[in-house]
Amino acid sequence: MSETVRFLQSCASDAEIDIVRLVDCVIIDAVRAGASDIHIEPWESSIAVRVRLSGVLNELVHLPSDLLPRVTGRLKVMANLIGHETQLPQEGRANTFPEAGNVVLRVSTFPTVRGEKTVIRIFDPTNRAFNLEALGMEDDTIQTLKMLLVRPTGLVLMTGPTGSGKTTAIYASLYHIIERAGPSISIATVEDPVEYNLPLVAQSQCNVARDYTYPIALRSLMRQDPQVIMIGEIRDTETAHIAVQAGLTGHLVISTIHSGSTAGVFARLINMGIEPFLLSSSIAGVLGMRLIRKNCPVCSESYRPEDSVLRNLPEQIRESIDFRRGGGCPACSHTGFSGRATVMETLLLDEVMRDAIMQKMPTRKLQEVAVGRGMQTLWDAGLKRVIRGETTLEEVLRVIGMEGFSPH
Ligand SMILES: [Zn+2]
Repeated sequence: MSETVRFLQSCASDAEIDIVRLVDCVIIDAVRAGASDIHIEPWESSIAVRVRLSGVLNELVHLPSDLLPRVTGRLKVMANLIGHETQLPQEGRANTFPEAGNVVLRVSTFPTVRGEKTVIRIFDPTNRAFNLEALGMEDDTIQTLKMLLVRPTGLVLMTGPTGSGKTTAIYASLYHIIERAGPSISIATVEDPVEYNLPLVAQSQCNVARDYTYPIALRSLMRQDPQVIMIGEIRDTETAHIAVQAGLTGHLVISTIHSGSTAGVFARLINMGIEPFLLSSSIAGVLGMRLIRKNCPVCSESYRPEDSVLRNLPEQIRESIDFRRGGGCPACSHTGFSGRATVMETLLLDEVMRDAIMQKMPTRKLQEVAVGRGMQTLWDAGLKRVIRGETTLEEVLRVIGMEGFSPH
């Protein structure tokens, strides 16, 4: 039984409910369940209290409607908000107590026709999910990324389709910098929206409705003396210009950009009107990434892919690989897969690459130059995992396709 339900059962009547304890119980229940958010919302005949678990909202409890002003009032006190302001949205932070794991809460209130709705984002400062080591990258990829993150200036760009792990990688990168430098470094972000709260980082959220856009936020942020700047996404010319300028003037800029391929980032930025010589002197590296599913370790077994699939591999290695896939078992809910790993290709800018970018080489040619300079492609990285039996050949083809395939 949840703390909240047990507590409510111990109260003889609504009037007797100790609101401070009630709110504490809800927070304790949410934290114990591993929830990311708490929604407290006035419904027609009750207050619905729901918690988000693994991305899905679950009902925790329903409270009598007449408790709403007291519950909301208590949360406002915790988050230093204005108690009597019920007609405008407010946002604040609150610290908790050991029983709730000392998590930090971001409390936001929102006026609805039935009264204020409150959403609480739970942030656990000890969360290790953003450890670079926890992303399932290869060791040499982690080393390369760490080498980029130690730079005082330049742009580090991450690219990949939606759901490729860019956001997690970018947060993990900031976490790494925080761990390494601690409070001695000034880090600021502009995001749309802020997805996770980070300790020691000044995070700002765009608000397009109020004209607080990426370019406007970034221009102000530049006057805030940041050393490391994270930009959620470069998607317009002005943001691209500011990012490049910042990278050239003593800031480390980390951002994501949408592009069909890693080498395609340069063409994308040139299309946004950035001069190739500015790109070649500001960008330190571009990381292309994908998430692949890993074979379930419990039911993984040898198999032979179909010939039509095998055809994609160079003949000389086809016969030497012990292909493995999960047959399906209760441990993996009969999917054959368990967990995911980040596959990455890292395009680093050396003299030769810089030269190629200055010459405005087409994307395909740039990719070739990068491979010539030792870049391990997404395909190579995926194939390595197949050879080690960590995933299936079909999974690598599904996620990565044949792009970046270089027979060698
Ligand atoms: Zn299994």
